[in-house]
Amino acid sequence: MLQLLTRDVTFGLPSPRYWAIGCAYLAAYVALDWLSFVDPLSAFGITPWNPTTGVSIALVLAFGRAFIPWLFLAPLLADGVLRQFPLPLDAEIAVVTAIGGTYSAAAWLLTRPENGFSPALQSRRDLIWLLGTAAVAAAVAATGGVFLLSSMSIVSFDQIPQGVLGWWVGDMIGITVMTPFLLFLLSGRSIFPKVPELILPFLAMIGALFVIFGSATSNPSQLFYLLFLPVIWIAVRFGLEAVTGALAVTQVLLIAAIQIAGPSTIGITALQTLMLVLALTGLIVGELVSEQRNTQRELWLHREALGRASRVGTLGALAAAIAHEINQPLTAIGNYARVGRRALKQEAVDQASVIRTTEQIIEQVDRAAAVIRWLRDFIGAGSSRLEVVSVPDLIRRPESVCRADLEEHGIRLDTAVTRDLPDVKVDRLQIEQVIGNIVKNASEAITGAGCTNGRIEIEAAHDGRAFIVISITDNGPGFEPVLLERPISPFTTTKADGMGLGLSLSRSIIQSHGGKMTLGGNRNGACVSFTLPTAEKAPPGITT
Ligand code: ADP
Repeated sequence: MLQLLTRDVTFGLPSPRYWAIGCAYLAAYVALDWLSFVDPLSAFGITPWNPTTGVSIALVLAFGRAFIPWLFLAPLLADGVLRQFPLPLDAEIAVVTAIGGTYSAAAWLLTRPENGFSPALQSRRDLIWLLGTAAVAAAVAATGGVFLLSSMSIVSFDQIPQGVLGWWVGDMIGITVMTPFLLFLLSGRSIFPKVPELILPFLAMIGALFVIFGSATSNPSQLFYLLFLPVIWIAVRFGLEAVTGALAVTQVLLIAAIQIAGPSTIGITALQTLMLVLALTGLIVGELVSEQRNTQRELWLHREALGRASRVGTLGALAAAIAHEINQPLTAIGNYARVGRRALKQEAVDQASVIRTTEQIIEQVDRAAAVIRWLRDFIGAGSSRLEVVSVPDLIRRPESVCRADLEEHGIRLDTAVTRDLPDVKVDRLQIEQVIGNIVKNASEAITGAGCTNGRIEIEAAHDGRAFIVISITDNGPGFEPVLLERPISPFTTTKADGMGLGLSLSRSIIQSHGGKMTLGGNRNGACVSFTLPTAEKAPPGITT
């Protein structure tokens, strides 16, 4: 997403999209601050539930560091709009700078590429990074904030321990409940599966809240453990995404129940501490369940791949690869031949158009022959023929070959090539083959999922250093998560008639040119991108 954002930035000015996201964040921040302003300690309002902190961290993780300045603006705006600046202006600015600075540092740390943290939260490591950083940042913000307020005599000396604990719990629970939930929502992942069974744990949750708050004699903290049942149920049955949704619902219902029961009689911080334990337990169980599911799915794919590979054998692998690579020109030949027949059947035969079609058929036949030659060289560890090609030229041929097929399926193909890109030094046929493969996969994914308004976009840009980045994005169902997490391996396919060779062959080709291929995207579409060194940077020869 960061990439999308920077691409939108023109002439050094942030794009309209940047301002729209920033303003939406400010509106959400103020609204959530208003909703969560329960049981405040001191005029400044140390509250035991701060979902706003979670939203701030999610903003930077999802959209990039360019949004860090907004983390300072939002608390200032909320204090002005909702509480008419309860502190003197210099105190207000000191506290907001301390909080904004702490969480900006936390978000900056999490987004450092060296840390390898992924906002997709696909592994235990990512979750531990997020929660660990949140715990430390909340401790720094709470201690710093309360001591600042105390030095200004806004919080009395004996309120310090209560203030620090309340603040820490409030911020920590805000991040634990809101950040993973928002990250999943913003990345287009669905939170709850559409299954009737899900109604049962939610009914159990409402029942548990009635029992916890219903009995006037008992302290709600004593029966709080009842809420573990529905949350763990959802975590075990439906995994991490669903448990983040369940925790958000639990938190909102809990705060509503506290408000209805009367906040003065109940220790909200104590309940929120229990809620924090519940949230941490739920997230960890959800993560373990999701990880186990992905591992099972991956194992299944590997077993299938292994079976297919052993059936195919060494000689068969060559045949399979040839069949796969040759399929593309054959499809194009079929399409052109049909166009030619249609033209010949017409009363007034348009000779020029028939000649053009025939020439295109000849070109494809030559291409098929060249593919076989190349495959023999490629698999037989031969070397490739390099030439200096302009990027638009490199994209044009596979684009025109695929277009007829795509139009037949109602899929739109767009290209966006940055102007004045440096040339690349490549084996033209190989790279055209890679682009053709990826576009064909995208088209199959779109038609396979029955998507209407299918769209594929080929983009080419300079990475600012010595590489050209070519990305092919579609609006199909996206890669299965297990395919995204692991390196591309041959014979891995989800298609009944697939061979699972296209991506791995393409990756070998790109690597042999000194580039890198990466898979990305989400449930709203897949993105395959690869890099090619510019002509000045290209390796002297290609070895396979
Ligand atoms: P094959 O097309 O024979 O299955 P590939 O190596 O080309 O082999 O692709 C491997 C798998 O990657 C496919 O089975 C499919 O699940 C997935 N895949 C490839 N491209 C896309 C895409 N654009 N959208 C969704 N999934 C894709």
